[in-house]
Amino acid sequence: LDVITDGNSIAIELRNVSFGYSDNLAIEGISLKISHGDFVALVGPNGSGKSTLVKVILGLVKPSTGSVELMGTPINKFSDWKAIGYVPQISSGLHNQFPITAAEIVSHGSYRGISPFNFWKTPKTPEVQRALEVAGIRDLGDRRIGDLSTGQQQRVLIARALVRQPSLLILDEAIAGIDAQGEELVYRILRDLNAKGVTVLLVSHDIGAVIREANTVACINRTVAFHGKPHDLTQEELTTLYGYPMEVLLHDALHEHR
Ligand code: ADP
Ligand code: MG
Repeated sequence: LDVITDGNSIAIELRNVSFGYSDNLAIEGISLKISHGDFVALVGPNGSGKSTLVKVILGLVKPSTGSVELMGTPINKFSDWKAIGYVPQISSGLHNQFPITAAEIVSHGSYRGISPFNFWKTPKTPEVQRALEVAGIRDLGDRRIGDLSTGQQQRVLIARALVRQPSLLILDEAIAGIDAQGEELVYRILRDLNAKGVTVLLVSHDIGAVIREANTVACINRTVAFHGKPHDLTQEELTTLYGYPMEVLLHDALHEHR
């Protein structure tokens, strides 16, 4: 993948961003800069505002305060959405009854929105084939999505996000619900993509794994609690963040990291 960065080194910049669904703010005063080419883990406990922050970055909700820039462009003027790939979480299987193949799902990544007419277009374009290959599921293209394991389905969604060769890939809890082997495969794909210049923003509540994988960690708990290198994250900060000791997790994670 050749990633064009427009000479701008910041992929995402949030300044003082707040958003609430009701009176309570789900995120508050978040300022965060994510550089092109970085591999960032966004971690925090359940309900800490991670998905809300992703929605803000994807322009799905408009922050009540603050500003968002993507690739150096204010989000309301940003139009290069094909440069951003998004992988949602699948917790309990995808389209179990739906007679659709992996390749057909991946081909949907080629379209902006789904129209009833292009929905059924023949899926095996070179771009689709390529995305299947990058996601390590070349041989699964013709399989029905419901017949695949959760880990394989997850890679189908990664392939779908890769069809348009994004320079920024955002995964929201995409690794939840896969077994250890599937998880390692996904991390390997992300490492490869990142080595080729793709910026990765990986949202997770599994702090141990992401600390091993990421170059940068942002911890949020409504506000930004920590932003920096994984090994600078202290146990104290983690305990404050999660409300219980993280000793074992952290020990394992940092042991391998150092
Ligand atoms: P996380 O992804 O870290 O688990 P979320 O961003 O999903 O956190 O949620 C942050 C807060 O916003 C939580 O208190 C949650 O209950 C609330 N929230 C999330 N989505 C909605 C919604 N659609 N409507 C109302 N409240 C929501
Ligand atoms: Mg979430």
